[in-house]
Amino acid sequence: MHVKAEIFPCPGCGSAMRYAPGTDNLHCDYCGSDKPIDVPPLPPEMKRELGACLSRVQSCHPGAIEKVLDCPGCGADVSLEPLTIGEPCPYCGTPLLSEPGNPLPPSAVLPFAVTHKKAQGIFKRWIGNLWFAPNALKRVVDTGKSLEGYYLPFWIFDADTRSYYEGERGDAYYVTVQRMRVMNGREVPVQEQERRIRWTPVSGSTSRTFRDLPIVATDRLPPKLLARLQPWASGQMQCFDLRWLSGFTSHEYSRPLESGYEEARGIMQSVIRNDVLRSIGGDEQRIYGIDTRYDGERFAVPLFPIWSSTFRYGGRNYTIAVNAVSGEIAGERPYSYWKIFFLILTLTAIAGAAAWFYRHYGGD
Ligand SMILES: [Zn+2]
Ligand SMILES: [Zn+2]
Repeated sequence: MHVKAEIFPCPGCGSAMRYAPGTDNLHCDYCGSDKPIDVPPLPPEMKRELGACLSRVQSCHPGAIEKVLDCPGCGADVSLEPLTIGEPCPYCGTPLLSEPGNPLPPSAVLPFAVTHKKAQGIFKRWIGNLWFAPNALKRVVDTGKSLEGYYLPFWIFDADTRSYYEGERGDAYYVTVQRMRVMNGREVPVQEQERRIRWTPVSGSTSRTFRDLPIVATDRLPPKLLARLQPWASGQMQCFDLRWLSGFTSHEYSRPLESGYEEARGIMQSVIRNDVLRSIGGDEQRIYGIDTRYDGERFAVPLFPIWSSTFRYGGRNYTIAVNAVSGEIAGERPYSYWKIFFLILTLTAIAGAAAWFYRHYGGD
């Protein structure tokens, strides 16, 4: 489907402007002009009620279509993969954008704070601290070319919970018992301390408020990797506007709300379980049942900014990603088997030498 490419022309020279990380501005690479992105503040009631949407949205699993944009920079037809909002033109780099098409458009954007240069520094430090990283990997990062900026969708969830539990609290005490032990080849009676638990039935309640619990809503980058980039500074989110996305590759959610919510519930339940264990107290705990009431359940689907690089090594792909607000980094990494091999060789040699030394000079 052909759609019109959205660009933001520079008031000075007419070139397409891009969002400059760490600022509230669009910037022109050609003449250096800046233009503020003036969006209204994010309304406090930005989140939607979950119950109403769950039944409606689960049926709308994104039926994604491929969009074709005419690049105003070079005239090429640029086809965007399904569920892509925008990306730089692969031929001339012009930042291309299109309107989102999912049933739920992005509710907010967390703009990039970490610049490309700063992200490259974070990558380099991380690689430098890796043990057994192949030199090929260090070279990939040195060039910085492979580092790309993405806005990726997350589901964020709110809930106010109250949980009623029943269980038992275990308090430890010690008793002195007499046992027969073999000492110097003879059985002798000895006094020993033995730990025992006194169990008392308990019941009670705990409450826990969840705000902006983030769940990855795309598989554009490995979701397990993205999940490690927490926390996200959701307090700094801005109203969704295509201008924040100009110059970056941006995607819409591909994971249904229902499935994201299920994962969020699982995380909430494990947090609540820990609250209950703490509330029971004592030295050991048994939980017989937790009954949780969820109120005020709301959600939103913001875009979060990520610098990422994918490189190939030994026939497979590895991805590294940086939270482009906090600088938190997470990466999949290959190991250099040669480096490990030589380390083991060296350690074996040292151990062998030590053993020889001990036999000849040690132990009196
Ligand atoms: Zn300009
Ligand atoms: Zn182009």
